[in-house]
Amino acid sequence: MNQNKKNTQQTQKTALLSEGAAGYLVILGGGESGVGTALLAKANGYDVFVSDSNEIKEHYKQVLEHHAINWEEGKHTEAKILNASMVMKSPGIPEHVQIVKKIRDRGISVVSEIEFAAKFTKATIIGITGSNGKTTTATLMHHILKQELNVGLAGNIGDSFAKQILEHDFKNYVLEISSFQLDDIIDFRPKIAVVTNITPDHLDRYDYKFENYIASKFRIAKNQTKDDFLIYDADDEVITQYLENHPVHSTLLPFSLTKTIENGAYLDEQKIIISINNNQLIMSATRNALKGKHNIKNVMAASTVAHLLKIRKQAIRESLESFQGVEHRLESVLKINKVQYINDSKATNVNATYYALESVNAPIVWIVGGVDKGNDYEGLFRFVNEKVKAIICLGKDNEKLKQTFKNMVEVFHETQEMNEAVRMAYKIAEAGDSVLLSPACASFDLFENYEDRGRQFKNAVRNL
Ligand code: ADP
Repeated sequence: MNQNKKNTQQTQKTALLSEGAAGYLVILGGGESGVGTALLAKANGYDVFVSDSNEIKEHYKQVLEHHAINWEEGKHTEAKILNASMVMKSPGIPEHVQIVKKIRDRGISVVSEIEFAAKFTKATIIGITGSNGKTTTATLMHHILKQELNVGLAGNIGDSFAKQILEHDFKNYVLEISSFQLDDIIDFRPKIAVVTNITPDHLDRYDYKFENYIASKFRIAKNQTKDDFLIYDADDEVITQYLENHPVHSTLLPFSLTKTIENGAYLDEQKIIISINNNQLIMSATRNALKGKHNIKNVMAASTVAHLLKIRKQAIRESLESFQGVEHRLESVLKINKVQYINDSKATNVNATYYALESVNAPIVWIVGGVDKGNDYEGLFRFVNEKVKAIICLGKDNEKLKQTFKNMVEVFHETQEMNEAVRMAYKIAEAGDSVLLSPACASFDLFENYEDRGRQFKNAVRNL
């Protein structure tokens, strides 16, 4: 359908509903998912109010104004919030916030953006969650599926799911879904769910209980039936144990690097074999641009979905070869004097850095540090002893890293400035070495976010 015609129909549909006929929706948080939800809700007859305790970005304010949606910033006016028929809570807002507690006490239904938005589409939904690898897997999956399907990519990536439903109405959606989005689902039921892996992260939002975080991830399969599919890492003991103790109704399609899988995906020497009801897809495990064992897993997850959705085998193989990876995830920046510089700024936890140290060629000059989220570094010791020749700590408080690693490497430096970190690395590295930024920590001490950290790294390398 042509876009104008569709928009006209949408407007007519909206006009048929009297203002607010669908109910009064309060949206907490005026960011991408909040504003997207506001637009979708307004177009579907809701009376909408957006409330944000911080400042709302100018661009979003303009969008809200343009659509005559009421909003406030820097406060939560209870009188306007506590008479909502439903509240959409943006994923960044924790449960302990006063207004959320009051909303819960009143018994008002609280939903996440994906729960709200999914009601307005009949599309086939593929939901991807996990501690690491969501963006890489979702982006790769979208890259393969779009060869033959009408498919959108949303969730934590780009435009919100809600906005895309309003503007595009794709027939399929690949959704990257955080645990925060899953916490407030009720009926959300993806046709295909993917759990990439589960390692401790964001525990501050889960009463410091790992089991709460695990349960949150598995909410993705909560409403699935045997007609739906759950794809997961069968080598991940956290996942397999959870499934043993909390069976789901979904049809299971596991993937593994270590064992043969009858229905699902596995690695047979250099080949990836994906079997679904005896229909096998066999592909090279080495012919894709993504490096490292973790990326073979991501390739398995994405290709299993593609095979399930009947994308031609040759189209899957070709798309894997042409996929160039996602910025800030083990991204090759430049080779200078035969030294490879790699930007893995998105490695904000130990598990992501584990795979970086595993897959990058030694000797490594490792730039690490930032906001430590209660990290346990022990899993990295093997690689640091074997492969790392120098450590450069880049953070406000490097004490823990110093205590942990100082005696393991020949060279140990500290700095609070990216340019200096890169210049130090340049001086230490010799032909054949790799300089790896893989912080294992959040970025908020010295940078705006991980993208800012990654960009500063790349600029510093380019200016060498
Ligand atoms: P997410 O969206 O879940 O944060 P990303 O794809 O953005 O995941 O990757 C985050 C970090 O984790 C990067 O450093 C990346 O290299 C690493 N990573 C990617 N896939 C995996 C995986 N399957 N297991 C562990 N780490 C991974």
